[in-house]
Amino acid sequence: MSVTAILARLVFGGPELRPIRNGCVVVEGDRIVAVGPRSSLAKRALDGNTIDLGDAALLPGFINLHVHLDFDGSPDFLNAAKLIDEQTSTLLAVDSAARALAAGVTTVRDLGNKYAVAIALREASSKGWIRAPRIFAAGKAICMTGGHGWFIGLESDGPHDMRKAVRQNLKLGADCIKVIATGGVLSPGVEVGSAQLDEDELVVAVREAHKAGRRVAAHAIANVGIKNALRAGVDTIEHGCYLDDEAVDMMKKRGAWYVPTLRAPQAMYGLEGLAPYVVRKVNQVYDAHRESFKLALKKGAKIATGTDAGTPFNAHGDYAIEMRLMTELGMSAERALRAGTVDAADALGIKGEIGEITAGACADLVAVDGDPLRDIGATRRVRAVVARGRMSTA
Ligand SMILES: [Zn+2]
Repeated sequence: MSVTAILARLVFGGPELRPIRNGCVVVEGDRIVAVGPRSSLAKRALDGNTIDLGDAALLPGFINLHVHLDFDGSPDFLNAAKLIDEQTSTLLAVDSAARALAAGVTTVRDLGNKYAVAIALREASSKGWIRAPRIFAAGKAICMTGGHGWFIGLESDGPHDMRKAVRQNLKLGADCIKVIATGGVLSPGVEVGSAQLDEDELVVAVREAHKAGRRVAAHAIANVGIKNALRAGVDTIEHGCYLDDEAVDMMKKRGAWYVPTLRAPQAMYGLEGLAPYVVRKVNQVYDAHRESFKLALKKGAKIATGTDAGTPFNAHGDYAIEMRLMTELGMSAERALRAGTVDAADALGIKGEIGEITAGACADLVAVDGDPLRDIGATRRVRAVVARGRMSTA
C-alpha cells in the first residue's frame, strides 16, 4: 500500500487539536499511520511520496451533523420538496455531497430525505463510485401526521406506528433515526412553539433505535418538545431554539449533544424570496436561538456542529459559516474547531475513528489557508481535502 507524507506549516494533531509547527502526517491507504513534527519522523516515511502543502494548516476533515443532501438551498423549500422525484433527488444529492466535500466536509449526517436517497449515496461513497463525504443517513424523518416536514417525512402516530416507522427506516439501512419533536420554520400550518410527537411516541423511537445500536436525533425547537425528547432519551437535540436552564441541565445530565444549526435561520434572516410564513417564523426564533446557544455554552453543554445545509440559502459548501457564528456568540476558535471535528465524531459515537489527526484514525483531512486559531475565517479557505486517504485540491 502506498505511503504518503503530507507536510504543512501547522498540523492540528490528536483529539485536543494541538498545533504542531512544521508538521507531517503520514498516510497509508485510508489510515493515518504517524503524525508529528517533520523532523521527528523516520526518514522512511518521508522518502516515499511527499505532498508539501506549504504554509497551509492541516485540520481533521470537518463533520456536518445536520444536512439534507436532496435539497440545494432554493428559497421555495415547500414546493421544491413537493415536486421533486426520486431520480432528481438522487442526482441533486450527489451534487450536494460533492460540494460539501470540496468545502472540507469529509463526513455528513443526513437527517432526512424524501426518498431516503442518502442511504444509497452512503454505499456509493464508501465504494468510491462518487466523490462524496462519508455519510450517516437517517432515512426518512419521522413526524406526526401533518407534523413539521410531513411532505418529506414518514408520518407516524402512536407508539405502535412509531415502532413500525423506526423499523422501516432500519430495514432501509438507516444509520440513525430522526424524529420531529416540535413544529418547524419551513412547514406551513405548524408553529415553532408547539410540541409535536408525544413523549410516549418518542420513548418508543429511542428504544427501537437503541436496541439496534443506532442513535436518535430530535428536531426540537419549542421548549416543551425539547424536554419531551430529552426525557425520552434522544442523543442529539437539533436547533434547540428555546432552551432554558432546565433544558440545558437535562442535556448535561443525560449526556445529550446540542447541535444548534445557527446557520439555518441566519441564512434566511432578512432575505427576500421566502414564503411569508417562513419569514414570520425566522423572525420569531432568531434572537431566542442565539440566546439559547449562549446559555448552552455558558452552562457547559456538549455542543457539536451541524448546519441544516439544503434549507433555504443554506448551501452545502457553506459549512465554515457555522464555526464563525459560534465564535461570534462567544465560543473560542479552538472549541469551535473541536465542535466540528473531534466532538462531532463523539456525537456520532465514533470518536477516534474520524475527527482527529491521530495514528490509527481514518485519513480524513482538510488543509486551509491561514491559522484558524487566530482567524476562524481561515476554515473557508480550503486548499486541499483528503477523504479516506484520497486527496483532491481546491
Ligand atoms: Zn434539518
